[in-house]
Amino acid sequence: MPATILDGRTLAAELRLEIAGRSAALRARGIAPRLVVAIAGEDAASIAYVQSLSREGDKVGVDVTVDAVDATAGTTNVRALLERLGADAAVHGIILQQPLPRHLDIRRIADAMPPDKDVDGANPLNGGRLAFGSGTEFIPATPAAVMLLLERSSRWPLTGVRACMVGRSNVVGLPVTLLLMRENATLTVTHGRTVDLRRHTLEAEVLVVATGVPGLIRGDMVMPGATVIDVGTTFVDGKLVGDVAYAEVAAVAGEITPVPGGVGPVTNVALMRNVVLAAERLSGSA
Ligand code: NAP
Repeated sequence: MPATILDGRTLAAELRLEIAGRSAALRARGIAPRLVVAIAGEDAASIAYVQSLSREGDKVGVDVTVDAVDATAGTTNVRALLERLGADAAVHGIILQQPLPRHLDIRRIADAMPPDKDVDGANPLNGGRLAFGSGTEFIPATPAAVMLLLERSSRWPLTGVRACMVGRSNVVGLPVTLLLMRENATLTVTHGRTVDLRRHTLEAEVLVVATGVPGLIRGDMVMPGATVIDVGTTFVDGKLVGDVAYAEVAAVAGEITPVPGGVGPVTNVALMRNVVLAAERLSGSA
């Protein structure tokens, strides 16, 4: 039997209803939730990304604007931009568009983002809060989307479930690892230096893949009936593809997210949810 599709578009539509309601309640109190995308050097990709965020914001009542510095701006200037946005009471959420120009290092900049407006969890302080499960963190949007999709899967709750995370980046693999542990999954984390990846993926009841290597996960690497979440997004010959060889894996897995239409649509909504949460916290209603 082919795998059940975990449909990100349907989930995103459901989540929007809840977020739009919370946003409307804020607006009734005179608070307009606002996300600012800080950009160092605008290019076509970042403009397209901001447009997609802006469309998402329109659907849930979050204003999305851009504040840009020149592509040649130094670390001090980008930090100053983030500090200025941090001090602006009309701004509730800030994200710093990545990748940054080559001469800038996110590790020397992200801590300039005030933690209470850092809606995609880039400030290391929010990373620490996430690791400690303090409840005061913002769960970064893509890891949040992975967990929201898993919540809708037949594997939920994850207590005792064997999971494998493929990829360990600070933006996806590491936070997903922390969240899976928080849900009491028993976990293997794999990465580019892992020897015999298949041995690990084959044991996983829940397999989350975030590598940016198109088609890395083949059908013979997946346990029959497994739940597979594909975070990867790469353009190959003008077409968006995931890290999972979809047709092969869908023939083996029990549940699978498509690319496009899986993690991606939920990610943008999860980001807006964090902006609304930030506005609620900053205004004392959460
Ligand atoms: P990244 O920073 O490049 O990290 C990739 C990770 O994959 C690294 O940990 C790397 O290992 C590991 N890896 C690479 N080749 C591997 C292999 N052959 N076997 C096992 N692990 C391997 O990428 P990222 O930012 O995490 O993003 C991953 C993918 O998700 C990309 O396609 C990106 O576009 C996509 N993405 C999608 C969304 C969304 O909303 N849908 C959001 C964010 C990212 P090492 O650590 O050893 O190098």
